[in-house]
Amino acid sequence: MKIGLEIHLQLPTSSKLFCSCSTSANEPNDSICPICLGFPGSRPRLNRKALQMCLLITKFVGCSIPDETWFSRKTYFYPDLPKNFQITQYDTPIGRDGRVRTGGKDIRITRVHLEEDPGKVKRVGKAGEEVSLIDYNRSGIPLVEIVTAPDLASPEEAREFTSDLLLELRHLVGMSDRDEQNVRVDANVSVGEERVEIKNILGLKNLERGLASEVVRQTKMLKAGKVVVRETRRFDEERKVTLPSREKEFEEDYGYIAEPDLGVFRIGKMAAAIVVPETPIRRASRMAEAYGIGIDAARQIVLTSKTLADLFERLCSNLPPIEVIPWVLGPLSSNWTLLEKRLDEELRDKIGRIIEEASKGAITKGEGRRRLTAMVKGEEVQDSGVGEGESELTSIVVAYLDENPSIVSDFRENRRAANSVIGHVMRTTKGRFSAAEILEAVTREMQGRL
Ligand SMILES: [Zn+2]
Repeated sequence: MKIGLEIHLQLPTSSKLFCSCSTSANEPNDSICPICLGFPGSRPRLNRKALQMCLLITKFVGCSIPDETWFSRKTYFYPDLPKNFQITQYDTPIGRDGRVRTGGKDIRITRVHLEEDPGKVKRVGKAGEEVSLIDYNRSGIPLVEIVTAPDLASPEEAREFTSDLLLELRHLVGMSDRDEQNVRVDANVSVGEERVEIKNILGLKNLERGLASEVVRQTKMLKAGKVVVRETRRFDEERKVTLPSREKEFEEDYGYIAEPDLGVFRIGKMAAAIVVPETPIRRASRMAEAYGIGIDAARQIVLTSKTLADLFERLCSNLPPIEVIPWVLGPLSSNWTLLEKRLDEELRDKIGRIIEEASKGAITKGEGRRRLTAMVKGEEVQDSGVGEGESELTSIVVAYLDENPSIVSDFRENRRAANSVIGHVMRTTKGRFSAAEILEAVTREMQGRL
């Protein structure tokens, strides 16, 4: 099975791609002008910010960028397109031939280009009496289109790839997290020889569902000895099936011509000056490799927060990662939102000291946990040596063992003898210490006595 995607994303600029209209509007047709409506004599001008964002994305997906690029008019008639052509890119996309590594596999990127969104047609009224309303607010909204080679092997993989890509791009250009629902994808799927294109799938959930239903349809046809025809279909979200779509155009039918009003853009230097920062998923892969931790753990740390990942790497500079991981995934992660607000240099040092003492055995793990939790709540904590809580625990254990020497000799035969100590401590301290902590204290005390 082969799946290729064309992913369309809105770039988070404040103004449109070729005019200064705002990209956010409340009322229909609130944010329009002669340029985005294509009035005669209006002259589009390229939004520099949109170009920069597109270049950054293009470099991120490893595409090569030409020195010169231009736009093209894609001509077709539809009420959402008042000028009868969409300004897009045809023969000189911003980037070609890239590659994105996802889930241990390389997905080739065929091209990345910049284009404007058309307006929106909305049908209202009851069946038979419908009217169409047109809103041109979206007309001229900057979109980036990322096209992959048919390298994805299943609907799940297609969804994971797109989800990871969105996460990275959100970090790179600051897209909103609503993009998971708003991302628009055209997908081509071939189970056998012939491929079928599914147009206009909205959102990640529908992407996986639409692909899955198309895969089932093609598989059944092939099994029944039928021929899958090359066609364009659409995904019906209600019925969860793909249906033939009336669209029959091929790229050649659009009669692309170079857009004369915009001219040629020399983008080589601008592209060369752009530095791609480390993105979350790439960081997780690097951390997994550098520290020998699992990729899932690395992702969890990075996706919780960048600051947590920074703290993890700082702790790993003088402690073995294997010691650091349980603290970072446990008490630090679970209280992270509280802790992050107060995290300063002093607190970072304190956290480092507690984890260091606990991993070297200077204090118990339970005591370490208690101190970290207290620190999160902003309580004063003693941050070196044996803590109050711990010395209290030890003294109760010591006193009880002194009173009941038989437990010590029983313990030699059977470790379960510690259970009576655990029960006693839990009762006298009203459950302030966990069984694991008490067992840790008992075992330590026993080692001295045996
Ligand atoms: Zn405008």
